[in-house]
Amino acid sequence: MEEFIRRCEECNPGEREFIQAVSEVVKSVKPVLDRHPEYREERILERMVEPERVIMFRVPWVDDQGKVQINRGYRIQMSSAIGPFKGGFRFHPSVNLSILKFLAFEQVYKNALTTLPMGGGKGGSNFDPKGKSDREVMRFCHSFMNEIYRYLGPDTDVPAGDIGVGAREIGYLFGQYKKIVNEFTGVLTGKGLKWGGSLIRPEATGYGAVYFASEMLSTRGETLEGKLCLVSGSGNVAQFTAEKILDLGGKVVTFSDSNGYIFDDKGVDRDKLAYVKELKNVRRGRIREYADKYKEAVYFEIDPAADFNPLWNHKAHCAFPSATQNEINGKDAANLVRNGVYVISEGANMPTTPDGVDLFIDHKLLYGPGKAANAGGVSVSGLEMTQNSMRLSWTREEVDNRLRMIMKSIHGACVEAAGTYGTPGNYVNGANIAGFVKVADAMMAQGVV
Ligand code: NDP
Repeated sequence: MEEFIRRCEECNPGEREFIQAVSEVVKSVKPVLDRHPEYREERILERMVEPERVIMFRVPWVDDQGKVQINRGYRIQMSSAIGPFKGGFRFHPSVNLSILKFLAFEQVYKNALTTLPMGGGKGGSNFDPKGKSDREVMRFCHSFMNEIYRYLGPDTDVPAGDIGVGAREIGYLFGQYKKIVNEFTGVLTGKGLKWGGSLIRPEATGYGAVYFASEMLSTRGETLEGKLCLVSGSGNVAQFTAEKILDLGGKVVTFSDSNGYIFDDKGVDRDKLAYVKELKNVRRGRIREYADKYKEAVYFEIDPAADFNPLWNHKAHCAFPSATQNEINGKDAANLVRNGVYVISEGANMPTTPDGVDLFIDHKLLYGPGKAANAGGVSVSGLEMTQNSMRLSWTREEVDNRLRMIMKSIHGACVEAAGTYGTPGNYVNGANIAGFVKVADAMMAQGVV
């Protein structure tokens, strides 16, 4: 296994996040490979770490001053073993090949866990929508689609949103795809309700992460009622995580963005949450404004150079990291444990560093890794694809029920796989093994392709 990782590092130099994601899966699936030599024989793992296709391209666009700007676009088509490539676009200045490859790799196992027929992919650009006008975002999205459209299709590759890609961006991307191919088709998910979108899609990742936490708590005969919850981020996932925590009787005391976080001792109620949605989704403001409006809240700057994030250093029962990768390091994990947090449900992708993950597992916390806990988003994307194919729209209740059942079944699959391979209660191993076996079996059946 060490040799495998070493060779992977050699083939993907400098791709820190990708190697981190691969290492975790390799560690988890070793007992599976030991029990099933046929996977080794067919070099399944070696094939899985090599994307089926990587597309990198220039995205030129013109800003409001008439100046030409250039960004880089990407699509990683990681695996189509069990369905069309599926995974979001991320627009953020930090985007690079390593980050998108880690996200695409994680997506393969996550999508397999949903039980829906979806392969894995991810894409995006180092474009930063922050501070850009709507017209600039539109011109960028159109230029991005001018190149990537040729690799997409409802049965080929169906992207969605991620960081920096919400309803506005999906609208511009969809409009341009439709114009180029002259077809109104379900090529993107996260679409507006009036033009092919699904109810509950915006809510799905956050709601799903809370449903997963509830499932984990139920293994100890507990619920979210009365639980004190730390939430990071203040975007799509964070907002709907907070909403579902409120629905289930929990109390949310934090939100953050890349500059800082607010701590509200009295708790975020429905009115305050509506304010955050308006602040972030309409005015595109900063979370510090929350503390200007609500005097009971305190705002703290986050120093990116500090060796811990103070958001994770408050007394609580549950943590819902919902911002970005590696936002909880070993020190943060130790602070969480010391402060009594015993449920971590990851809305973000890979938000905990490997030493943090080890600490959670050593302390036997209820730790739901992103690829299981945040699979609600892609699950409802899968349901959006189904509704598009059937030319039907399901009700809010119907989609929400299906989402809840899918999260329950993902939880069950993790528990079962972890138990079968001798690590009961370890959701990391459970998620990796259950996802791996499904994809591996499909690859075995399809031959060397
Ligand atoms: P949004 O763009 O809506 O919100 C992202 C939030 O995280 C913002 O508050 C943003 O702050 C903060 N953030 C982003 N980058 C950083 C950073 N480097 N450091 C600190 N804070 C940061 O994205 P989503 O809510 O959609 O995504 C959040 C996470 O959830 C990501 O990890 C994503 O991959 C994952 N996810 C999302 C899904 C979805 O359906 N949207 C599905 C599954 C996973 P700021 O405004 O300052 O940038």
